Amino acid sequence: MPQDAYSKPIPAPSPETARYWEGCRAHELWLPFCRDCGRFFFYPRRFCPQCFGWDVEWRRVSGRGKVYSYAIQYRAFHPGWSQETPYVTALVELDEGPRLYTNLVGVDPDPNNIRCDMPVEVVFEDISEEISLPKFRPAVSG
Ligand SMILES: [Zn+2]
Repeated sequence: MPQDAYSKPIPAPSPETARYWEGCRAHELWLPFCRDCGRFFFYPRRFCPQCFGWDVEWRRVSGRGKVYSYAIQYRAFHPGWSQETPYVTALVELDEGPRLYTNLVGVDPDPNNIRCDMPVEVVFEDISEEISLPKFRPAVSG
């Protein structure tokens, strides 16, 4: 998609999130992992929000998870989405634990087609040279 066609707000990487966006650009999901308590966390920050440890490293995660909650958006909160309603926002709980606020794609925006705990997997939408957005679609079984 040409950059000038993208009319939605584009995330701006910070020092804390640069590695995350670098992974997304490669179509890989990388999250901060705390070596003190052995758990992933999100959003990225320099210390672990679970144990306040500072021994944090980046690890690639599976990109698989399940729908924790979702909402079907019939009204756009920003003009960039006005042509896309209805669309689905969701909180996805990754197999590794953290929850990401994201969009569900590849599914009809109908409550009959979406349920909590539905297995999903990450897909990436390239919106600029630097930024690819992680979104989730129903997992292909098997
Ligand atoms: Zn920790």
